[in-house]
Amino acid sequence: MVFVERRGNRGERRESERPGFRPLDVLIIGAGVFGTTGALALARRGHRVRLVDPGPLPHPLAASTDQSKVVRPDYGDDALYTALGVEALEGWRRWNARFGERHGRLYHPVGFMLRARDPLDPGGFEARSFAALGARVWPVEWIGADVLARRFPQWKAANYPHGYLNHGAGWADAERTMKALLGAAGASRRVKVMTDLAAIELIEEGGRIAGLYSAEGERHRADVTVVATGSWIPTLVPDLSPVMRATGHPILVFRAPEPDRWRPPRFVAWAADIARSGWYGFPARGDGTIKIARHAAGVRLPAGAPRVVDEATVDEARTFLAETFPALADAPLVTTRLCAYCDTADGHFWIDRHPDWPGLVVAGGGSGHAFKFAPILGERIVAAVEGRSDDIEPRFRWRVPASGGREAARAR
Ligand SMILES: Cc1cc2nc3c(=O)[nH]c(=O)nc-3n(C[C@H](O)[C@H](O)[C@H](O)COP(=O)(O)OP(=O)(O)OC[C@H]3O[C@@H](n4cnc5c(N)ncnc54)[C@H](O)[C@@H]3O)c2cc1C
Repeated sequence: MVFVERRGNRGERRESERPGFRPLDVLIIGAGVFGTTGALALARRGHRVRLVDPGPLPHPLAASTDQSKVVRPDYGDDALYTALGVEALEGWRRWNARFGERHGRLYHPVGFMLRARDPLDPGGFEARSFAALGARVWPVEWIGADVLARRFPQWKAANYPHGYLNHGAGWADAERTMKALLGAAGASRRVKVMTDLAAIELIEEGGRIAGLYSAEGERHRADVTVVATGSWIPTLVPDLSPVMRATGHPILVFRAPEPDRWRPPRFVAWAADIARSGWYGFPARGDGTIKIARHAAGVRLPAGAPRVVDEATVDEARTFLAETFPALADAPLVTTRLCAYCDTADGHFWIDRHPDWPGLVVAGGGSGHAFKFAPILGERIVAAVEGRSDDIEPRFRWRVPASGGREAARAR
């Protein structure tokens, strides 16, 4: 896929005319959602960007390449992620307006249903999210078992009698989003998207990072190098290995019986007792397929490890479906995929300059929950590149994460 247009946009011109502005030459390694939104935001600021990836783009193994991602501000009583979720939703609406005509809708505001098996434990994820969003006068609706059975008949209401519907949330078409963002990057006169280019090492020169060595042995130099290679980050920045690792998480896609019954408004994006089961999913797509996935501990995924969803996981999924959506329990399995999280030790993103290597920025650590924040990631990556770490939330900055935070993070 080649992006050729070089129109540039008004926003880009205004920024670069700031007094005393010196455009930086920035190399971004990795064209997933972190790298691509970073490239667009840096171009808007007037910097020159090369976005490199082995490709093809969107890369089939990238975490950002997927049919769907949940977009929600439901984060328990975590005020920061709740606020960022609300801010990101504004961004998704803007993107629908900006890209919708050409690419179709990126974000589907169909609602997000959170169910629990037991009466909501006040300290539990669902109760804390409901309370936090309620306090923001957010459109959340408590739904008991009777109403669930009547309005959302696909659920086995007796097993999930407690929970709520967030009318102000939904899901994003991840693949379509990545194509729209990569298209915009390719159309920018300040971004050069380079595929067939894999970085194998960073150039260390005079106590700083000056660019990358490619697999072909070429040197690509820059003022600032951003490593945004997702679950592959520790390969290029080994000193992050103790606090960042790749974990594999299953995606299963089934052929829905009578697909219309699995579409909004009677079936929306959902999470079923997620803090304990990990299972969540989406409405049926236009082709009649329906996706479920699990947000749990996952499996360690050393570089090059096979990305296969094993039979045991498929069996667990069918057991879960029998207890949750009985009409889907025996549906034909269309495909499976083991997708990689870049898990940080505390479950928070990593966007900052390296404290010991000037010229190096790391942007990633999505920990299985970053895609929904796509509209607001870019400006934080710009802040890191321009050395304005104070403009980045402390929890995303360079740190020594508290151990044991990863597990707690899963309830996020
Ligand atoms: C199964 C699953 C479900 C998820 N569900 C959700 C959800 O519902 N909601 C949500 O908000 N988030 C979700 N996420 C998380 C989200 O998808 C990720 O946090 C996000 O996509 C990570 O983006 P990234 O840019 O860091 O990495 P990636 O998208 O993985 O991109 C990394 C890029 O780096 C490139 N690269 C790698 N090595 C090199 C190299 N040496 N040189 C050059 N390029 C290189 C790769 O080709 C790739 O294109 C989910 C993730 C997974 C795995």
